[in-house]
Amino acid sequence: MSTAPQHLSKALIIGGGFSGMAAAIALRKRGVAVDLVEIDAGWRSYGAGISLGGATLRAFKELGILDPFLRIGYAADGVDLYTPTGHSLAQLPTPRLAGPDVPGGAGVMRPALAQLMATATRSAGVNVRLGCSFSHIQQDAAGVDVVFTDGTSGRYDVVIGADGLYSRVRSTFFPDAPQPGYSGQGVWRAVFPRPQELVRPAMWLGQKVKTGVSPVTQNEMYLFVTEDREQKIHIPAADQPQMLRDLLQHFPVALMQTVREQIGEHSQVIYRPLESLLIKQSWFNGRIVLIGDAVHATTPHLASGACIGIEDGLVLADELGRASDVMQGLQQFQARRYERCRMVVENSARLGEIEIAGGDKQEHAGIMRSSLMSLAEPI
Ligand SMILES: Cc1cc2nc3c(=O)[nH]c(=O)nc-3n(C[C@H](O)[C@H](O)[C@H](O)COP(=O)(O)OP(=O)(O)OC[C@H]3O[C@@H](n4cnc5c(N)ncnc54)[C@H](O)[C@@H]3O)c2cc1C
Repeated sequence: MSTAPQHLSKALIIGGGFSGMAAAIALRKRGVAVDLVEIDAGWRSYGAGISLGGATLRAFKELGILDPFLRIGYAADGVDLYTPTGHSLAQLPTPRLAGPDVPGGAGVMRPALAQLMATATRSAGVNVRLGCSFSHIQQDAAGVDVVFTDGTSGRYDVVIGADGLYSRVRSTFFPDAPQPGYSGQGVWRAVFPRPQELVRPAMWLGQKVKTGVSPVTQNEMYLFVTEDREQKIHIPAADQPQMLRDLLQHFPVALMQTVREQIGEHSQVIYRPLESLLIKQSWFNGRIVLIGDAVHATTPHLASGACIGIEDGLVLADELGRASDVMQGLQQFQARRYERCRMVVENSARLGEIEIAGGDKQEHAGIMRSSLMSLAEPI
């Protein structure tokens, strides 16, 4: 661990998701004292599996968590794209960015990744406080005073809002920021046993409905189905298994029909409307900065939302460490991140529009391919 730069001895991170934890670990590596407050007393992670590209594995390497990650996840090269009857449309390359011996992509169960990163956060010496948030924040030219919901208080050189899509840091300190926007699609997810023949992620592009599977452990895979839906609605849990079964009727390919037969009324199915957000103005207000979904939330069409949030943590620590003061570090952080994050949010949104319109599959595959190649660029 190096010695903290003079202008940055203490940082506060609000939100202990993937982005906040990555920032915390990266700042500790630079010797910065870090407090992290997480509102959920159980520090739980919701959802089924998550797909991660080579850029995320590269970021894990820099954070020092790649080896344990490879023990809990399922790493593989490439993504297969098919028609609903199983005719091959394309195989997307996933460059090996974390080293020649590490495949170019991976899947993992979300709670397993969250637990791995939480352990790494605590081992790095981050002062984690659960069931806690901010109640009042006031900044002056030299620092930020924070009063917490448990009545304690602290003074920090920088405050990092990593509190997700519905960020309270954003609504408090960035009142002109846009609200999350519904994309016109929802996604269904569930976990199933992995058939031995499924050795890498695959997607089947229907006219308007898309499905895909991604191995998350040696024995399991997660399934997603995206469909267009004009309204952002809540679907009662009891109705979800049958609705997912109905959607899979659009995919005659054998693997999808086998999955379909496994869905019963007690299956754990999660439906979620898709939303996105991109702040085009400043990502910081004085010494308070936003990272991850709080500032750029993407729909999952490129499976890269967690990736760009985790990278934010690395780049923020790097720029704050290199700059001569906090303000310069925050400016350099946004300058280095904006274009990459914009590309992910906007290209993901475009993929969703093509799906909603029942548009050109080759254009869809082309955008996926070029976006994955851009993500391979160094950060
Ligand atoms: C359906 C779906 C599928 C996805 N699939 C993928 C995928 O395959 N690959 C991928 O890379 N990305 C994927 N993503 C995106 C990814 O999940 C997010 O980009 C990522 O989780 C964002 O992490 P975050 O830490 O920025 O925010 P969050 O995960 O939202 O974490 C925010 C944290 O802050 C806490 N918090 C909230 N408010 C407060 C407060 N006031 N005080 C303190 N703490 C607070 C929350 O409890 C939470 O722990 C998907 C997203 C969706 C919706």
